[in-house]
This record gives sequence, structure tokens and C-alpha cells, in this order.
Amino acid sequence: MSQPAIMKALQLQGPDQLVLTELPVPFPKPDEVLIQTRAATICTSDLHDIKMNPFGIELPKVPGHEGAGIVVQCGSAVKDILPGMRVAVHPVVSCGTCVECERGFGHLCLNMGHLGIDRNGTFSEYFTHRADRVRRIPDEMSFSLGALLEPVANCLQAIARAGDINNRVVLVVGDGPFGNIIARLAVREGAKVLVAGREPFRLGMIPGVEIAGTLPVQSVDVAILAVSSADAVTTCMRSLRKRGRMVVFSLLKDPVPVDLFNLHISEQEIVGCCNDEDRMDMALQCLQDPSLNLSELVTHEVPFDNWEEGFYLARDRHDKALKVALVFDSH
Ligand SMILES: [Zn+2]
Ligand SMILES: [Zn+2]
Repeated sequence: MSQPAIMKALQLQGPDQLVLTELPVPFPKPDEVLIQTRAATICTSDLHDIKMNPFGIELPKVPGHEGAGIVVQCGSAVKDILPGMRVAVHPVVSCGTCVECERGFGHLCLNMGHLGIDRNGTFSEYFTHRADRVRRIPDEMSFSLGALLEPVANCLQAIARAGDINNRVVLVVGDGPFGNIIARLAVREGAKVLVAGREPFRLGMIPGVEIAGTLPVQSVDVAILAVSSADAVTTCMRSLRKRGRMVVFSLLKDPVPVDLFNLHISEQEIVGCCNDEDRMDMALQCLQDPSLNLSELVTHEVPFDNWEEGFYLARDRHDKALKVALVFDSH
């Protein structure tokens, strides 16, 4: 397959300055593949990066870290991935040699690479990615669903960090895409799941759960923070029973007060949750699990040329949008 020399790409050039531009099509390194993007889903963290760049991304950069497409070129050292394959990607690229990688924590790598953060991401017609972070997707899976590979892997990490939740009460605070996926996974694990959120449309998109109207006090085994809000931290901690555990899945940039007296007398735990420990293959199975029905998450497929509408829906229309996919022509 041959590809053009120039591609359309969204480039973040400064805070809140996302611009459609043209860039050279990148060339894959020996261990990389070049992928023709077919769908790239918008993540809450993309919206944060675009608005205030909390990770200090060096600009200009093409954002986007969730994506699926067709392999068009492989580096000389790539073995299992071939041109023409339909694939989805996981954005995290660990170095394999730092102390955390050596401990088996590649997801906490000290020299971590990440699509859309230290290298150009998926909001462009083509992107390159290290082949070991690419997975083939089935022919019948839509590219938009395939693009959810990484968010689902991240949510599997939240479930793993929650511990054994079978027959236990789990409160998910947050009704966005992550809260939704985490809640579905928790139901599948046999938990009784309560969800707290503000948006009736989004709450209605989560099957098999109870909507927490008045929030339970000291009665849940696990509370998962799936929204970036300090109030939600208080909600989580207040709802935990003795020996309960809070999983900090969403990002809070500023310190928040936590009642350590209560934590002490209740022997509670707070655990972090960031990226995932190689849960790509399990995530791929989840995408194909009819009981999870994760394709429901993608409420909108917007042509790449209408990217502004896509970002508007993801950012401002929580009353009707959940996951928004930018979709690309096959050229
Ligand atoms: Zn994401
Ligand atoms: Zn490393």
C-alpha cells in the first residue's frame, strides 16, 4: 500500500488553540507501524490537555491517544503485524529498562512514552506506534469500538485495584464514559453497583446499576472516583464502610482534604489507579462481550472534517453525548 506524503492533522499549538493543519505523514521506526486512522475517540483527558495542558505537553503536538485503523506500513523489525490489518492501539509505551519496568510496572514507567503527550497522537489521518502496543481487531468490530481498547483497559485496572468485589457494594462516582465502563465491569464481576452522577442522560446510559440519589453513608465496600472533582472525593470517603477502599481513578491536580482520623479508626484504604498493567488483551475480549455491550458508549461518530462539532459534543453536550468518535474516510 502507498500513502500520500502529506496528511491532515489536528495540532495543539497553545492553550485552547487546536488547529486543523497539514503535516508530513510520519515514517515508522524499525519497531513501529504506520496506521491509517479510521476512528479516534475523544477522551476527557484530551479536553483537559487542550484547555490547560496539566501534563505540560511540549507544543505543538497532535493530541489524541485512543484510536483504531488499518496498518499501511511496518518497520523492518515488526513481526506479527502486517499491512492491511485492522488494529487498535494502546497509547502507553514503556521503556522496558527503568526500575519500575524491571519491577513489572511498565504502566508506571519512569521514561514513559504516550501518544498525544510526548509524540504525535491519533487526531490525524496517519500515526505511527510501537508494534507491541498494537492489537489486531476482529473484522466485525467497528473502528470506533476498537478505539475504546485503552479506556477499557484502564477501567479494568480500576476493577483490579478495587480488589475482590464479588457480592460487595461498589459506588462509582461519575457518570461519564469511564464511570460507565467501570460500572459495567463491576456488575460483570458480581458487585452490587451504585452510581452517583449529575447528568440524567448519562446515568440512564448505565445498565444494571442503582442510581445513588441520597448517598449512602458508611455502607459501601469500594468507592471509585471517576470524576475530577474535590467534592466527589468527600462523597467517596463518606460512603465507605469500615475497611472500605477508595480507588482514585480520575485525576485531581490540586490537593484535597481527607479525614485521616476517620480513615484511621475505620482502617480504610485509598489506592491510586493510573494506566493499566497490560490489560489490552483482556480489554479486547471485553469489547467483544455482548453482556457488556460497550458499543453503546459511542453515541456519536463525527467526520474528521467536522472535528469542531465532535469536540463541542464531547465537552459541552453531556445531555446527549458520551463517547464521541472522529471517523476518517478510507481515502
Ligand atoms: Zn483516554
Ligand atoms: Zn520504564
